[in-house]
Amino acid sequence: MSTLNTLVITDASSPFDSKAKADVILRSVDLVDFHALRYLLTLASPFFDSLFNDASPDIIKNEKPVITMQEGCRVLGPLLQLCYPSSPPLFEDIGVLMEVISTASKFCIDSEGFLGSLRHAVLISPVMQANPERLFAIGIRHRWGDVCKTAAARSVALEVESALHRRTFGDELSHITAAELYILINYHQEIADVALRIAQEIESGSGPANANVVAPYPNNIWFSSKDIPLPISFFKDHTNGCQSLQITRKIWVYDLHPDDHVFTIDVPAWWYEYTLDIGFRFRDKPCREMILDPELFQKAVNKAIHENSRCTKCRDDASIIIRRLHDWTYVFARVVEDNVKEVKLNTDFS
Ligand SMILES: [Zn+2]
Repeated sequence: MSTLNTLVITDASSPFDSKAKADVILRSVDLVDFHALRYLLTLASPFFDSLFNDASPDIIKNEKPVITMQEGCRVLGPLLQLCYPSSPPLFEDIGVLMEVISTASKFCIDSEGFLGSLRHAVLISPVMQANPERLFAIGIRHRWGDVCKTAAARSVALEVESALHRRTFGDELSHITAAELYILINYHQEIADVALRIAQEIESGSGPANANVVAPYPNNIWFSSKDIPLPISFFKDHTNGCQSLQITRKIWVYDLHPDDHVFTIDVPAWWYEYTLDIGFRFRDKPCREMILDPELFQKAVNKAIHENSRCTKCRDDASIIIRRLHDWTYVFARVVEDNVKEVKLNTDFS
């Protein structure tokens, strides 16, 4: 019967354990003693100065005054750790992180060292892996550019990893505006559109090979003529009626040498349609695996080889064409990934 009323006081773990260098003990409301150095805490916030000056502790333990706090150990522990020049705590529970942030605000702990450690802890903690959207909102509220960027990128990756992932938020959403939330939505959309945008921008028109088509000048020239794995010799010696020769597209390319000029080249339609297919599928799943998807690759091979099986040239060159098409997917993946990295969050802070 008596055990319910027995107070069990325990010591915190390192760096606040009973062996730590300390001149004060902060006791959490759930009776965990944190052995701390006043000097380090006062450096983090004048709140601790007032706390140590105003307190008149009745309890002395191991010759140190014991100050009773209103916070539980799960908040007090990481909060004190962030004030110390030690490795930051890892947050697994976003509720705890939010309590630490609000307690730090209540205690007016805003030293550069503390805030730097807090941001670092957020970036490396498991909560970033599991709750990126919530951390995005928290990052927006506190104007933490690095947290917002990492959270937005993780949010995209999480949706790629799991089709069941849904963006979820808590109370932190009420502290940001709709325009600020839209920054995250727009970031997702811009990344998802990268591959399709490139695929659409490289095309200058369709028509028979060498037709004199005047196409609008593109904003971006994404590929060198050497990136397109279909040399001029590709168009020679096909059997009459071969689709590779008859149905073509014009693609914008550049040549760095000799004079960095921009021009169009002809490619068989199946090659362009393959690139376009990747672009559409990338919108649903914006990742490298989608660009290298074997199913899309096989579909392109079928169009290039099997649907032209009556053409002697296409039949004889089948293995070369397949290899070139395979090489192209890696070129395209590289360009798309480079551009995904360039997608910016439109925040007004960095
Ligand atoms: Zn052919």
